[in-house]
Amino acid sequence: MNTGKIVIVGGGHAAAQLCMNLAEAGRGPDITLISEETVVPYQRPPLSKSFLKSSAESLQFIRGQTWYEEQGIELMLGAQAVGIDRESRRINLSSGVFMDYQHLVLATGARARPFPGIPPGTVNAFSLRGQADARALQTLLAEPQDILVLGGGFIGLEFSATASAKGHRVVLVEAAPRLMARAVSPQLSAHALQVQRDLGVEVHLQAQLGEPVMEEQRFLGLHIDGEFKQFSSVLSAIGAWPNQELAGQCGLVCDNGIWVDLHMRTSDPSILAIGDCARFALSGKPWLPASLRLESIQNANDQAKTASSTIMGDPQPYHALPWFWSEQGPARFQMAGLLPAVISRTEVVEGGSSGACSWHHFDGDGQLACVESVNFPADHMKAKKQLLSIW
Ligand SMILES: Cc1cc2nc3c(=O)[nH]c(=O)nc-3n(C[C@H](O)[C@H](O)[C@H](O)COP(=O)(O)OP(=O)(O)OC[C@H]3O[C@@H](n4cnc5c(N)ncnc54)[C@H](O)[C@@H]3O)c2cc1C
Repeated sequence: MNTGKIVIVGGGHAAAQLCMNLAEAGRGPDITLISEETVVPYQRPPLSKSFLKSSAESLQFIRGQTWYEEQGIELMLGAQAVGIDRESRRINLSSGVFMDYQHLVLATGARARPFPGIPPGTVNAFSLRGQADARALQTLLAEPQDILVLGGGFIGLEFSATASAKGHRVVLVEAAPRLMARAVSPQLSAHALQVQRDLGVEVHLQAQLGEPVMEEQRFLGLHIDGEFKQFSSVLSAIGAWPNQELAGQCGLVCDNGIWVDLHMRTSDPSILAIGDCARFALSGKPWLPASLRLESIQNANDQAKTASSTIMGDPQPYHALPWFWSEQGPARFQMAGLLPAVISRTEVVEGGSSGACSWHHFDGDGQLACVESVNFPADHMKAKKQLLSIW
C-alpha cells in the first residue's frame, strides 16, 4: 500500500471529496489541506441560488471542521500555496512555511474573469465565486438596485432571476446570439430567455457594448446597442479562468487548465490536478472534444474519486458521465451528457400541463448523447440512466 504525505492545495468541492475518499481508506492522518479560504470547504452552488434569496441563509459546509479533526486531517486555512519545488517535492506557502509531499494534488479551482474596463476596487462592481462575493451580493440586494449583469451564462442568469424576482431592475447583456450558448442546446437557451423575460429581466443578445464609464471608483454605466444606460451596480459573470499559475510556474503543462491524464496525473506523476482547474481528454465517443475542462460539482467529485484511486495505488481511469443543474426563477434545468457537434435528431418529451419538458439529443450514430430537462426530474432520471448505460 502507498504511504507518505498527501498535500492537497485548494479548499473547494474537489478537495473536500478527495479528503472523504482518502479518509475512508484510512489515509486521513497523511493529509494536509491547504486552503486560502478561512473556512472549511462549503457548497458553492447555493451561493447563486438560495443564498441570494434571503439574508438568513448561511454557508453549507460539505463536512464540518470537527469531521476533519476526527479523520486526523491537518487543516491549514487562510494559507496560500505560492510555489512548488518538484525536485525536492516541497511546496511553499506565502507565510514562508515549507511542506514536503509524496503526493501533491492541485484542486485550486477557477476564478471569475474580470470585465475589461472595470478595474479591481470598483465599489459597485461585483463578481460571484466565493462566500465573500455572495455575502456582498446579499447585502446589495437588501436595497433597491438598477443592476447590469454582464454575461448570460449560468451564474449571470441565476443571479438575474433572483434579483428580478426580488423587485430589482435587471438588465442582462450577452455577446452571443443566445443564452448559455457554450453549454446548452438552442431549445434550452430559448426556454431560459423566456424565463428571464417573464421575470422582467431586460435581456440583450448579441449586445454591442461601449467602454464602461467610470467616475473615480464607481461604475456609472455604458452604451448598450448604441444607447447609454446608467446603473447603480454591475455584476460581471463572463466566465472563469482556471487557477493554474502554481502549476505553470513549476513547469507543468497547462493550456487553459492543468493538463491531466485519465488518472488525474499532471506531466509530473507525483502531482495530480482535479476539478475546475484540470483539463483532460474524455474517450469513448468520436465527437467528444479533444480536451475539455468542466466546471461542475459532478466533475469535481468524480475526479476526486479518480485521484484517490491513483494515490491508493489502484488507478481507475476517469470515465464519468457529465451532468449539471441550474435554477433560474421557477425553472430547474438538468443536463446530462454532452451536446455533440452534429445532432442527428432531437426528441421532445412533454410532461403535461406544468410546462415540464425534456429534449433528448442524438448523435450522428443515432445514439442518445445528451438530455436536457426543465422541471421534469422523472424523465431526466430515466434518460440519465440510459445515458449511463451507454457512456
Ligand atoms: C456561484 C456558483 C454557483 C455554481 N452552481 C453550480 C451548480 O448549480 N451546479 C454545478 O454542478 N456546479 C455549480 N458551480 C460550479 C462548481 O461549484 C464548481 O465546479 C466546483 O466548485 C469546483 O470545485 P473545485 O474544488 O475544483 O474548485 P473550487 O470550489 O473553486 O475550489 C478551489 C479552492 O482552491 C482555493 N485555492 C486556489 N488557489 C489556491 C492556492 N494557491 N493556495 C490555497 N488555496 C487555493 C480557492 O480559494 C478555493 O477554495 C457553481 C459555481 C459557482 C461559483
